[in-house]
Amino acid sequence: MKQKLVVLTGAGISAESGLKTFRDSDGLWEGYDINDVATPEAWERNPALVQEFYNMRRKQVLEAEPNAAHYALAKLEEKYDVTIVTQNIDDLHERAGSTNVVHLHGIITRSQSSKNPRLTYPIKGWELRMGELCRLGSQLRPHVVWFGEMVPMIEPAAKICSQAEVFILVGSSLAVYPASGLINYVPGNVPRYIVDPKIPAVYGVPDLIKIEEKATIGLPVLVDELMK
Ligand code: NAD
Repeated sequence: MKQKLVVLTGAGISAESGLKTFRDSDGLWEGYDINDVATPEAWERNPALVQEFYNMRRKQVLEAEPNAAHYALAKLEEKYDVTIVTQNIDDLHERAGSTNVVHLHGIITRSQSSKNPRLTYPIKGWELRMGELCRLGSQLRPHVVWFGEMVPMIEPAAKICSQAEVFILVGSSLAVYPASGLINYVPGNVPRYIVDPKIPAVYGVPDLIKIEEKATIGLPVLVDELMK
């Protein structure tokens, strides 16, 4: 039986693949206020702008490549039963070879019915157009969880964290609720690592092993240690 190793990742792990985080740029995401592009209200007000914003993000994601940190996590599967819970909407973990990835906030390579969030479809290429409809006849939107929306995967993710035997947090400011609470589900006797060049404040979690490095530097070293 392999040990259960759970990794919670955030935007920081994809930063070195060229995908910007937004906490590092004053709360803006690629120059946009998130209230204008990543909320249900923004979609109500100006769906074409929201669609265009995510088309640009999708184009960037498709042009980006996984980095050494994504590959290091994929390698852990040789020794551990690995689950990656990611806040990211990119598909870089999968492209690096990780086989068990839970996307808390959806994935940008799929579209979603604006009537029924459970109806999702793969997107061919980078562009999702206004006028493209789901089978219920409603406009397709990006399959991502916007600020203010429910996070349907939060309960399965909490259960996964509660079963961790080793836990790694990488590249998240822990500023986005409810993902920020997941670390509190990890049992207290489990080794817990955090890799981030700017370690965020983590409350109520003693004995965190802090690796104050960029993901591509800190994770390969940590993975080598864990593979011994
Ligand atoms: P965040 O932007 O709030 O915080 C980024 C964290 O990554 C910070 O703690 C920062 O110090 C750290 N970081 C920066 N460069 C790093 C590096 N090279 N290596 C390791 N860590 C690094 O990110 P978040 O906590 O994930 O919250 C942002 C939200 O925005 C998420 O919900 C996510 O869905 C969304 N988002 C996703 C992407 C993506 O899919 N790639 C990109 C931007 C934002």
